[in-house]
Amino acid sequence: MSAAPRRVVVVGGGLAGARAAQELRAQGFAGEVVLLAAEAHLPYDRPPLSKEVLRGGGPAPVLDVDWAGLGVDLRRGVRALSLHDGGVRTDAGDVGADGVVLATGAVPVRIGEGAVLRTLDDALALRRRLVPGARVVVVGAGWIGAEVATAAAAAGGEVVVLEAGDGPLAGALGAVGARTAPWYAAAGVALRTRTRATAVHADRVELEGGEVLRADVVVVGVGARPDTDWLAGSPVAVDRGVLADRHLRAAPGVVAVGDCAAWESGLFGTRLRVEHWDDALQAPAVAVTTLLGGEAVHDPVPYFWSEQLGHRLQHAGHAEGADQVVDRGDPDGPDGWTTCWLRDGRLVALLAVDRPRDLLQGRRLIAARATPDPVRLGDPDVPLKQLA
Ligand SMILES: Cc1cc2nc3c(=O)[nH]c(=O)nc-3n(C[C@H](O)[C@H](O)[C@H](O)COP(=O)(O)OP(=O)(O)OC[C@H]3O[C@@H](n4cnc5c(N)ncnc54)[C@H](O)[C@@H]3O)c2cc1C
Repeated sequence: MSAAPRRVVVVGGGLAGARAAQELRAQGFAGEVVLLAAEAHLPYDRPPLSKEVLRGGGPAPVLDVDWAGLGVDLRRGVRALSLHDGGVRTDAGDVGADGVVLATGAVPVRIGEGAVLRTLDDALALRRRLVPGARVVVVGAGWIGAEVATAAAAAGGEVVVLEAGDGPLAGALGAVGARTAPWYAAAGVALRTRTRATAVHADRVELEGGEVLRADVVVVGVGARPDTDWLAGSPVAVDRGVLADRHLRAAPGVVAVGDCAAWESGLFGTRLRVEHWDDALQAPAVAVTTLLGGEAVHDPVPYFWSEQLGHRLQHAGHAEGADQVVDRGDPDGPDGWTTCWLRDGRLVALLAVDRPRDLLQGRRLIAARATPDPVRLGDPDVPLKQLA
């Protein structure tokens, strides 16, 4: 595929794909833009699915984009089946392209017959079942599991969350995640850690040791994997995500963005793949510049938030390899706290719990590769911006 495309095909109608189509026009691309979206819905946002949509309020979170006005050929319900040098093969025929944006996101890991929450249809179906008195079993105390439990409890359900590890959010936050455990009881949710499900059915979950939990609703929230199977045999390399360089280039004329992309992070010196709304929002501008022959680098401080069990969690950075953990504030107190991860004295990640200011200022410190004094860092009364 050539460096200056005439027709660009964007594969995936989530936030990253939609933003890529918008960016193509914003950056002056006057050629054809085709957006292939496997789902029948207009492109929409996912974070509200486990929050407002599940709680019953708010309309479908459709993105506010005038597709016709943008001159984007949005093809809903069309799935790409393979990528080759001349374009994309779909279940509705071949689409020739000399530029391709890969934005196929991620798919939830399924266990047995448990419901998952990834799409608007998943959310609407689940919402109908979260009624007062419903016995809800959630498998996995990760981000999605915690948010589903929050909504199910608010709807008046009897909620049990099963977690095989020592505490909630262990995969993302390590031991720090266990600090959220008391929130479950406070919200009327039964959290059972070190509890492994051996079989998941639509109406019951079997546990190691033989116990069986009967349920009206069983939801599995044990993570997602990049949606890349369709790229087998294509010119791009895949290894737990589409391998992209720091310009988000995956192959000549092909860029990758959002949950499906694993890019080289200069800031953290490693390859990153995140499932963060903010990355799906920001990365397409860089990818499109690259596709159009310009020079841009994607090197963000990853940012993610969650609203669960009455708390707002905001996470920035990448804690891998951290050798020091510093807390600001009292994790058992009522005012929230912030955990900071340092590597060789450099702030590499932080989790702000009900402390949005720390997130904002801390994210800047991470971007600046700051090496704050750990004693002052640990003082919740010292604003992080003073530690630059
Ligand atoms: C329930 C839920 C809650 C979340 N909450 C938060 C939050 O609070 N904070 C946060 O930071 N992040 C959150 N996220 C993560 C965030 O929504 C994702 O990071 C973001 O949606 C990624 O966007 P994307 O466009 O890369 O992928 P996706 O949103 O997954 O979109 C990819 C689209 O591509 C389509 N597709 C896949 N394969 C093909 C194909 N072969 N051909 C055509 N189309 C295809 C899919 O159907 C899908 O519509 C949440 C995610 C979920 C599911």
